[in-house]
Amino acid sequence: MLLDLSLSELAKGLREHRFSSVDLVNECYDQIEKLNGTLNALITIIPKEEALASAQKADKELTPDASPLFGLPYVLKDSYVTKGIKTTAASNVLKDFIPQFDATVYTKLQQSGAILIGKANMDAWGHGASAENSDFGPVKNPWDDTRVSGGSTGGCAVAIATRMCAFAIGEDTGGSIRNPSAWCGTTGLKVTYGRVSRFGCIAYASSFDTVGPMAKLAEDCAIVLQAIAGVDPFDASSSPQPVEIYNDQLKSRKKLRIGIAKETLQEGVDTEIVTAVELAKETFKSMGHEIIELSMPLLDFGVAVYYQIAPSETSSNLARYDGVRFGGGRDLFTDENKRRIMIGTYALSTGYADKFYHNAQKARTLFIKEYEKAFSKCDVLLLPVTPFHAPRLGELINEPLKNALADRFTTTQNPVGIPSLALPAGFSSEGLPIGVQLTGPMFSEHILFQLAQQFQEKTDYHQRKPKGIE
Ligand code: GLN
Repeated sequence: MLLDLSLSELAKGLREHRFSSVDLVNECYDQIEKLNGTLNALITIIPKEEALASAQKADKELTPDASPLFGLPYVLKDSYVTKGIKTTAASNVLKDFIPQFDATVYTKLQQSGAILIGKANMDAWGHGASAENSDFGPVKNPWDDTRVSGGSTGGCAVAIATRMCAFAIGEDTGGSIRNPSAWCGTTGLKVTYGRVSRFGCIAYASSFDTVGPMAKLAEDCAIVLQAIAGVDPFDASSSPQPVEIYNDQLKSRKKLRIGIAKETLQEGVDTEIVTAVELAKETFKSMGHEIIELSMPLLDFGVAVYYQIAPSETSSNLARYDGVRFGGGRDLFTDENKRRIMIGTYALSTGYADKFYHNAQKARTLFIKEYEKAFSKCDVLLLPVTPFHAPRLGELINEPLKNALADRFTTTQNPVGIPSLALPAGFSSEGLPIGVQLTGPMFSEHILFQLAQQFQEKTDYHQRKPKGIE
């Protein structure tokens, strides 16, 4: 399949006229027609004629110096507003919402000539780790469709794994890009807070929310990040720090110190996932990197702190969807949405805020210090993405506590603001993908890409595909 190729190979192939953007778009729609009915990855599919018209135009207008994304089909998580195109956040509250403006990430991708072909399913408002908490039905895992895809950005990961698109844009507040990447066998990056503009991203928890790339390879994520990163006058929290030239740095083979915190491999973590991290460690060691054993006991409090602050912020952000100013009314929120709005309202209310919200914010500062300490001893941390494999449909949505535990290793990076890249690193005995993540200091995306790219040169986990994808 053409869409097995990396983004740079696709860009090269287009320039050498070995295939066309029309061919790529047709391949995506074939996959969508074959699989979206079962897997439910996309909520909105752009009419095929429209996408094909964009592809024909791209084929005519392609120049050698065009963006590497020119003419490549992609999907956006349905939490990004797109002018004139339905945007739901997977909630009945916004079932028929047609935005009046574009998210900056969408504007940037349009400017680079990429072709939007769909808006991807997710947990409503980003609340979840399974993409089952969607008013448009659950997203199913292409490796075993009795299992969840992971969430909240499940639709994007499934669309990449099944070649419904060349790449996707996800959103990560506490693991939403990394968790489905791990469970679907794809690569995804939670960026440094402020690296990519959040303008037009429907807010979940504004001080945690990040916009990031998802694709087959780390190298692909680097290309996409290059196109979407940078300061934006519409988002005061976007960073003016200059954007690295990621491609130039990919080839660097600088020896690095990779830290492993023992707490991330202890009880409650599936033994096959521990083995995958150990194997990844050996692979990095064999490349000449140094492994540093660490202890980071505070990481164990990630879920507790996250589930105070994220609901507090979401209770405030979702207040505007009251059926008067925005949306169809508060009775349309799912049980999970209501649970979070209530927890957040409680945690923020007079008499309780000191005990819950303010204490959680103090713990957040402690997390920052814990990571600073770790990064004084190592350059990057290696850890699991999830403590268990993709569960069966129904297991997480019916058990809110297990649902929160899925976030065990993905909830401390967002309060701190640091980047973390999830990449395929093995398979379970039942053939389910396993992911590991590389977490680095603020604005260390180029280093995460370097390491992940080296890993992907040595391993083939990222090349394997679910059955029936050919
Ligand atoms: N699973 C986490 C939650 O439910 C993270 C979601 C996200 O990153 N949007 O809050």
